[in-house]
Amino acid sequence: MSRTVYVNGDYLPETEAKVSIFDRGFLMADAVYEVTSVLDGRLIDFPGHLARLERSLSELDMKKPAAFDELLEIHRELVRRNDLGDGMIYLQITRGSDGDRDFVFPDPETTEPTLVLFTQSKPGLADHPAAKRGIKVIGIEDIRWGRRDIKTVQLLYPSMGKMIAKRAGADDAWMVEDGFVTEGTSNNAYIVRGNTIVTRQLSTDILHGITRAAVLRMAREAQMQVEERPFTLEEARAADEAFVTSASAFVMPVVEIDGVALGDGTPGPVATRLREIYIEESRKAAI
Ligand code: PMP
Repeated sequence: MSRTVYVNGDYLPETEAKVSIFDRGFLMADAVYEVTSVLDGRLIDFPGHLARLERSLSELDMKKPAAFDELLEIHRELVRRNDLGDGMIYLQITRGSDGDRDFVFPDPETTEPTLVLFTQSKPGLADHPAAKRGIKVIGIEDIRWGRRDIKTVQLLYPSMGKMIAKRAGADDAWMVEDGFVTEGTSNNAYIVRGNTIVTRQLSTDILHGITRAAVLRMAREAQMQVEERPFTLEEARAADEAFVTSASAFVMPVVEIDGVALGDGTPGPVATRLREIYIEESRKAAI
C-alpha cells in the first residue's frame, strides 16, 4: 500500500512527492531531522523532539518552516491517513533551494526551507525480538564532524559504521574518539556496573538523545545511580551489562562488545528493567 507523505504543505501519495534536485539537503546535507516513535497511534516524547529540532535549526541559522507550529497536527494527520499503529514518523527540514548550487547560504528572505515528513510502519515496535536476546557491538574510530549535538542528515559515516559492524558479524558499532566511546552509530551508549549506570556526559561530541534524557530521569527515580562521564571500550568489556537508547530502539540491551560476552551473555537486569519502565511510562505520556 502506498504511503501518504507530507511535502511543503501538501499530503501526497509517496510516488507523487517531489523535491528539487537543487535542494541543499540533497546537494550538501544542509538539513536537520527528527524521528518520533509511534505506539498505538500515539507519539512518544514529542515535545522533546520538537525542542531539539528547534535547537538544531537555530544552531545552523536555518529558518523554521512556516508550518512549524502545526508540526504536531501534521504528525497526527499522517498517523491518521496512514492508519499507523506502531512505527516512526521521520521529519526533515532542509535550507531549501534557490535553483542553483552555491556554497553560500541562499537568502532566507527569498528561499523557503523544505519540510518533508513520512511514516514508517513497524508493527510490534516495542516487542522487537532483539530486545530479548540483546545485540552485539564492535568498536570503530569516530571520524564524524565536531557538532554531533546538531541532528543533521550527514549520516554517511554512521551508515558505514553499521555496515562495518554487519560485515564483522555484529549488529552495531560504538564509536571511539581519543580512547573513549562517544556513542553508537544511531544511539547513545551505556554501561552498567552494579547499580550504577555510566554514560558519556552531554557536549558537542554526542547527540543529546531524547530517549537518553527520559531514561536517565527514570533510572534516578528508580534509585539507580547515574554517572555521566566518558568510558573506554576496555571498561565496557569488563562491565556487568551494557545497553543503547534511541527513539526507535527504546532501551536495547548489549550482550557482546568486540567478541567479549558481558556477564552470561544475555540481557542484564538493569537494561531489561529500564526498557520496561521506559516503554510503560512512554505509553502513558504519549500524545
Ligand atoms: N546518537 C545518535 C548518533 C543518533 O543518531 C541517535 C538517534 N537519532 C541517538 C544518539 C539517540 O537519540 P534519540 O534518543 O533522540 O533518538
